[in-house]
Amino acid sequence: MTKMKIGWVGLGTMGNPMVRNLLSKGFPVCVYNRTREKEKELIELGASSADSLQHLSQVSEVVITMITDDEAAEQVYNSSNGLLTDPSAGTLMIDMSTVSTQISKKLAKDCNDKGIRFLEAKVSGSVKPAEEGQLVIMAGGANEDYQQALPIFETLGKNSFLMGEVGIASAAKLCLNYFLALTFQGLSETVLFAQRENIDKEAILNLINESALGSGITRLKSQAILSNDFSPAFALKHITKDLRLVQKEGMDFPLFSPLLSSYQSASQMGYGEKDAISIIRFLDKKSVSSI
Ligand code: NAP
Repeated sequence: MTKMKIGWVGLGTMGNPMVRNLLSKGFPVCVYNRTREKEKELIELGASSADSLQHLSQVSEVVITMITDDEAAEQVYNSSNGLLTDPSAGTLMIDMSTVSTQISKKLAKDCNDKGIRFLEAKVSGSVKPAEEGQLVIMAGGANEDYQQALPIFETLGKNSFLMGEVGIASAAKLCLNYFLALTFQGLSETVLFAQRENIDKEAILNLINESALGSGITRLKSQAILSNDFSPAFALKHITKDLRLVQKEGMDFPLFSPLLSSYQSASQMGYGEKDAISIIRFLDKKSVSSI
């Protein structure tokens, strides 16, 4: 069966392994990245490249965006020479970036005004699941658009869910990332407190992971903590951005405000480009310097 022609915007930490995966399963992928050098590696693997975003939306049946934030989405879709300048009729746009519910609804309207279709499809999982096609995908939009995109989602993810109208999947993704931020903060505070109680880092992590408290994420990040490897699978600046989006949705539970402030301070102290679990290093340094 002929596979859909995919146009892909955004070859960052997530976009790169997701496109590799699609190429390895035989999808024709045409890529566009703002920093053009990042396209090279994927072109060598068989991707084609578009001269501009406008060109990309004219040669693709489905265009997928995996870019930083609301601002990037607005620029990519709506700038002159952007995706919506002159898209070919029938194109389906899918945004997989973690952005606000408001921008998702706006993009859906902008696409609708141009006579084309829009689906939001948010992902849970980081680099390794992206490489292995094991992401969890939550979508919002029309069922027929979701059905069209399903072969792509089945390649990128281990499962996918159509949750309702555009906006709901962005909200669900923010819920997951709120829990993730709490988990990283909680794990970090627990390990640092244990050390003050003269419990070895490895010993407390082992206890957590062997008890009912252990989870996929505590096990994954335990390795990073023990080896002091904070190279970014999910950058701290992105989780900080997501907490700001949670704030915009009106979150006012008691732990939220100190949590946001913790990640914001860590970003300001230079941890933004490191992995989000580097919040432990920020908290450790902060407690040392405040003694
Ligand atoms: P990343 O490595 O920072 O990559 C961001 C991408 O967006 C790059 O390709 C960048 O282009 C592009 N971009 C940013 N601003 C742009 C603009 N104004 N115009 C055009 N392109 C622009 O981020 P990532 O980790 O791949 O994450 C991408 C999205 O997925 C984010 O919304 C993130 O929150 C979400 N997410 C990430 C993970 C994860 O574990 N990393 C998991 C789930 C969801 P340049 O190369 O030119 O900078």
